[in-house]
Amino acid sequence: MTLSFTYASSPARILFGCGTRARLADEIGRLGRGRALVLATPFQRADAEALASSLGSLAVGVFAGATMHTPVDITLQAAAVFEEQGADCVISLGGGSTIGLGKALARRIGADQIVIATTYAGSEVTNILGETENGLKTTVRGPDILPETVIYDPELTCGLPIGMSVTSGLNAMAHAVEALYAHDRNPITTMMAMEGIEALYKALPVIVAKPDNIAARTQALYGSWLCGSVLGMVSMALHHKLCHTIGGSFDMPHADTHAVLLPHTTAYTEVGAADLLKPVADLFEAPTAGAGLYDFAASIGAPLSLASLGFAEADIARAADLAMLTPYYNPRPIESEGIKLLIRRAWEGTRPC
Ligand code: NAD
Repeated sequence: MTLSFTYASSPARILFGCGTRARLADEIGRLGRGRALVLATPFQRADAEALASSLGSLAVGVFAGATMHTPVDITLQAAAVFEEQGADCVISLGGGSTIGLGKALARRIGADQIVIATTYAGSEVTNILGETENGLKTTVRGPDILPETVIYDPELTCGLPIGMSVTSGLNAMAHAVEALYAHDRNPITTMMAMEGIEALYKALPVIVAKPDNIAARTQALYGSWLCGSVLGMVSMALHHKLCHTIGGSFDMPHADTHAVLLPHTTAYTEVGAADLLKPVADLFEAPTAGAGLYDFAASIGAPLSLASLGFAEADIARAADLAMLTPYYNPRPIESEGIKLLIRRAWEGTRPC
């Protein structure tokens, strides 16, 4: 056997399990901090305020203005509050939008971050920050962007609505599917990716049937940690590039776009990576990984077409052109007609063979 790879693990500290949120005060102290600003979206303001008051003097305030795609003007507003309140760290309570704001503050003003993750998007364990300014989304990576501590408390995910649980879970699976054929994958990322996909595959149908099933919530959050971890460790390819293009340039919802495109990008790439994706096809008991992902998404009530998300048929060609602008690695090379057909099939919601 010839085996050769580079493995670099993420240095984040992970606290996983029901009730771990009770250890937040200790974790602030562990970082040598004592004046936390709690971040959230407007939707999770009440939860953020309750969390801040439970921390007593360890929390100096709440900024509940986080929003999708991390707009720089919101970051500047949060930075002003951070300075005014004399904060020395942030606690990001929420999903990728809130975590993005915390990362942007870490990058700009060096704030330490503790994340309490409440979706399955996985941003909390990556060193990636996507920001928007003047309508343009740019992505940066850096060691200062990675949160110092992540708390995964499954009890806090029971309120994630079923629809978001489904699309967010498929968003997580997408990281792991692409990790399986990443050019810089290694045996550990492959193992983590398959474990993550399997955990979500088992948990999501149970969550759809019973959203507060704590065993399933725990299993899904465990899967999302693994999937987010591999997103942070290896390079993504066609699927993430296409979601970035369609999400960013056409203002489509992040997790829904991932959910709709995943079976189609997988089917396209599978032509060049059938052996690497066979474990997924086998897990889903399907002839191909693309078909298996489609049937699974349909079975848990995920959106199946870009048309249903409001994407215009007239934009298919432009989206394909934009996706072709910068070349990147994919096991099956990216070619214009194939990508147009892929987007059309995703727009229609046709089942991949
Ligand atoms: P989100 O953070 O925008 O959350 C969606 C909505 O659900 C928000 O209103 C939020 O407050 C609410 N919510 C979150 N958790 C909840 C809970 N447990 N109960 C009830 N409501 C809850 O959605 P997301 O999909 O987690 O994040 C999307 C954003 O994250 C995008 O901007 C995307 O680009 C980014 N992202 C970044 C990375 C990265 O590595 N940089 C990875 C994944 C996603």
